[in-house]
Amino acid sequence: MDIRDRVLIVEDDKSIRNFFRTVLEANNYDVIMASTGAEAYSMVTSQCPDVVLLDLGLPDMDGMKILKSVREWSAMPIIVVSARGHERDKVEALDAGADDYITKPFGTSELLARIRTAIRHARTAYLSPEGMQTGLFRSGGLTIDYDKHRVYIDGRDAGLTQNEYKLVSLLGKYAGKVLTYDYIIKEIWGPNMKNDNRILRVNMANIRRKIEKNPAKPEYIFTEVGVGYRIADPD
Ligand code: CA
Repeated sequence: MDIRDRVLIVEDDKSIRNFFRTVLEANNYDVIMASTGAEAYSMVTSQCPDVVLLDLGLPDMDGMKILKSVREWSAMPIIVVSARGHERDKVEALDAGADDYITKPFGTSELLARIRTAIRHARTAYLSPEGMQTGLFRSGGLTIDYDKHRVYIDGRDAGLTQNEYKLVSLLGKYAGKVLTYDYIIKEIWGPNMKNDNRILRVNMANIRRKIEKNPAKPEYIFTEVGVGYRIADPD
């Protein structure tokens, strides 16, 4: 039986919409399309897409409004596709619950990879009650052992401090997703921590010294400049 993942493309530009459709159908996705915010709303509720590609500049409303309202009732993967490349816009979209953010123009292989990651993450997330992660996360030589609260590199204990472990395990829990600086700070140091990225940068520098072969060219934890961090995809 052929069960295809269904992608909803929300995009008012006809040529971009058709380009997406061609690429996605060629890669065995079932494609549905909306060209306005109102159409997007009705398709999100009636068609149950597996992933939504959401343009922000729509004729009848800002795509951010759709993102925020869908997030009130659904965790369906939403990838914002936008010409707005400002860090501020990315942070706003990610903090509002977007799973990912792609800036136009981008390559088709990048688009397909982001879609696969978003769908896989949606299927593997929330496996255990109360968001507690158990078991192992593996990506190349990196292993996060959620039961032992340890991180290993090529089989040896990386010797992370408690906060460093929390940071890596948080990124692993949301593999494939960019976590914003603000979100990470609040998750690790609590809501009263002032929004100061310095402490986060210091912790990340220490983590990279412990887990990366070359901290200047990380293989495991990537920086999205001005936005946040993303961990490498699991094996
Ligand atoms: Ca547009």
